[in-house]
Amino acid sequence: MIEKDSISELISFIKKLYVPKYISDREKKIEGIFVPLHEPKFPGNEKKYLLETINSTFVSSVGAFVDRFERDMSSIASTKRSVALVNGTSALQISLILAGVKPDNEVLTQALTFVATANSIAYTGANPVFIDVDKDTMGLSPDALEQFLINNAELRDDGCYNKVTKAKISACVPMHTFGFMCRIDKIVKICKEWKIPVIEDAAEALGSSYKDKPSGSFGLLSAFSLNGNKIITSGGGGAITTNNEKIADQAKHLTTTAKIPHKWEYFHDKIGYNYRMPNLNAALACAQLEKLNLIKNSKRDVYNQYQSFLENKGINLVNVPEDTDWNYWLMSILLDNKNDRDLFLTETNQNGVMTRPIWQLMYRLPVFKNCQKDEQRNAEYLEERIVNIPSSAII
Ligand SMILES: *Cc1c(COP(=O)(O)O)cnc(C)c1O
Repeated sequence: MIEKDSISELISFIKKLYVPKYISDREKKIEGIFVPLHEPKFPGNEKKYLLETINSTFVSSVGAFVDRFERDMSSIASTKRSVALVNGTSALQISLILAGVKPDNEVLTQALTFVATANSIAYTGANPVFIDVDKDTMGLSPDALEQFLINNAELRDDGCYNKVTKAKISACVPMHTFGFMCRIDKIVKICKEWKIPVIEDAAEALGSSYKDKPSGSFGLLSAFSLNGNKIITSGGGGAITTNNEKIADQAKHLTTTAKIPHKWEYFHDKIGYNYRMPNLNAALACAQLEKLNLIKNSKRDVYNQYQSFLENKGINLVNVPEDTDWNYWLMSILLDNKNDRDLFLTETNQNGVMTRPIWQLMYRLPVFKNCQKDEQRNAEYLEERIVNIPSSAII
């Protein structure tokens, strides 16, 4: 049982940590303060680049900042290419299409994720299949993945098939939960043996790396998000990264209404999408990327302060799994059981400190309730116990 007193102490600690700088020490009344879960910060050239963009009139989907953002993203993910898109969900959808996912195929992913992962699979007409996660990384478990494939899959000349449903398993989408890296090297190895393309859902992991290799560099394609709640934001935005030049060209084509470039003719060679990131958003993205390390360093400091405070307080701060160089996106605690979790959520949210439980598992949602899944022991354990605590940078 968690003590109400230790929750109160943590609430005071968080409020003092995040008390706005403009409130002088003498006036510090922490009662009235509200601390959000994750706030965007704009410490650099954001306003300058936005004004430059407006003055240039190139506010929409063509412009210098879009090109620069794509170069910056491929440099951070150390991939050959990157394609800027309107959000992370569209980046996942286009990645799935380009990996060859077709209607009625199956895509392996985790049930412990934000709904966009499963939605993007559904958009292609394919069915998600939910595989368990590892307890420490909270991301797709390579052991559970291998077990599922051994029990259910068969390898044919043209790929991997589900022996039971007869459907083709045409992609695997592991997700890096809260910026922690899943055991992506093992997942890539297993998927290679089973001829399944890997798409990293790196929406939460911009700036994280695994065994010194950045997120977004492991999959055939990877998807990032620059939504307002992520480590850095372009208002709304996303990106695909890939080492495959041909796929990158296809991604750009498909997301630009599949228009064949010509000085004046409108010719579109397939049903394309209007998913290109506007230059206005790219301006914000470029300014934010310049400060990614500053933001990451401040968040590391916040994490270290939580760590020293929570020592011997009976509340477990979730530790960074081994081999992850973390971006410190969302910090979390692990409670003993669901009752403690609910008490913690109630106390904090009623007292001005925003906290949130980890997502409900995808198969709890009506639209995904009939999807195939394995045992989900770790996912269900974490679902009942993990709570995110305020994690904004202090800049
Ligand atoms: C945020 C997020 C997305 C979707 O990104 P948007 O930019 O909001 O569309 C996808 N997957 C995960 C795991 C996310 O956290």
